[in-house]
Amino acid sequence: MNNKRKELFIQHAISINTRNLNSKLAQKNITMSEKSTLFESSESRNPPSGGRGAVGASIIQDNLDHTLFSWSRQKGITPIAVKYGEGVYLYDYDGKRYLDFSSGLMNVNIGHGDQRVTEAVVKQMQEISYVTPGCVTKVRGDLGKKLAEICPGDLNRAFFTLCGASSIENAIKLARMSTGRHKILSRYQSYHGSTYGAMTVSGDPRKLSSDAQQAPNFVHFDLPYAYRYPHGESNLLKDSIDQLERIIDYEGPANIAAILLEGESGTSGCLKYPKDYLKGVREICNRHGILLVMDEVMSGFGRTGQWFGFQNHGIVPDMIAMAKGLTCGYLPFGCLMVSDKICSRYDDTMLALGLTYSAHPVSCAAALEILKIYEEDNLFGNALLMGKYIDEQVDMLKQKHPSIGDFRNTGLLGCIELVKNRITREPMAPFNAGPGEMAIMNKVATMIRDL
Ligand code: PLP
Repeated sequence: MNNKRKELFIQHAISINTRNLNSKLAQKNITMSEKSTLFESSESRNPPSGGRGAVGASIIQDNLDHTLFSWSRQKGITPIAVKYGEGVYLYDYDGKRYLDFSSGLMNVNIGHGDQRVTEAVVKQMQEISYVTPGCVTKVRGDLGKKLAEICPGDLNRAFFTLCGASSIENAIKLARMSTGRHKILSRYQSYHGSTYGAMTVSGDPRKLSSDAQQAPNFVHFDLPYAYRYPHGESNLLKDSIDQLERIIDYEGPANIAAILLEGESGTSGCLKYPKDYLKGVREICNRHGILLVMDEVMSGFGRTGQWFGFQNHGIVPDMIAMAKGLTCGYLPFGCLMVSDKICSRYDDTMLALGLTYSAHPVSCAAALEILKIYEEDNLFGNALLMGKYIDEQVDMLKQKHPSIGDFRNTGLLGCIELVKNRITREPMAPFNAGPGEMAIMNKVATMIRDL
């Protein structure tokens, strides 16, 4: 687990396909006395082995000796050696079962091991695995058409990328090129990826260790959230919009290419937008000719019970950055969906974007199959149903555990905010906590893993 970030949140984002989850979860009348088995990650109550039988141990050792781990001190890491996955569960080499309560990195929305995706991928590979982006394939056209159907407004053209960060990088470039303006505004307490531009546009403390490498012309603004806003919820919307307008005035609206926001906040703590905030941002963008880019990398594809998180807020952006749930981690992939209005500028001008693996046919095949699975299996309906269930369960947990300060959830994208004291709302660990301040949260994390 990342040992640098603030960990005052326990984020949940289980696969939105919960069909093979411990059958008790499916029963609506479960009581909290049964809680200990509710999210149990193992059939046994033994401490997790991590797959440390002879095979598991040598796999772990090779990985520790010869690979690097993201966002971590490299010493003292205790990874689980995963042999296979099925639905919401992962299995190690000792046959121990783990509930994947964050569905990978909030990306395996359909659950692990769905053979329909394997078959679609194999079929595509038997035909053709790769063509240059200048050639076309049936799957590329089919996927573009399907995404255009799914996206609202005139968001009809897909530029296929490799992951979330590369969708964001291309959104930044396209916003700048198509407006002729240079500044990009985004929110503190947001995450948009770890490549050069994506890292800079993020407002996440993980970027501070590479502070000197940040790109120019990115401006961040603060956005208060209800639980930590001292002036009452009725003032929150006005204050938030006023703050943004002030920053736009200071920076010069004619210099601002785009405002980039997550459709629903994810890794920064699922910090909810004040009601009607995104409508206000849309109006500001329209007034100043600023593009609105929604980052749906985490909140897209059913996590919040809709195709996209912004659909909970009644707006239509100019671009949508996608990844994660588009292929659910079965293959790396991403997409930047772009409005006809922006694209029309490139009818007679070169579109200066490109990637060797843009529109990779095998990734397109996986994505097409996964979009079909979302609809056929009614997974978005399931996300809403299970989200409601989790809301009820956390309400009950709250009565038992005074350390639960706030719970913010939409569908199956949510988190519990832990506090030392409910009255003062002092966080369990401070923002951007150092290792010494993380002891308690590390303990919580270990306990959850050992359940
Ligand atoms: N945007 C958001 C909202 C994310 O949560 C992430 C990753 O967690 C990214 C972008 C970056 O995606 P990737 O890690 O695929 O580059």
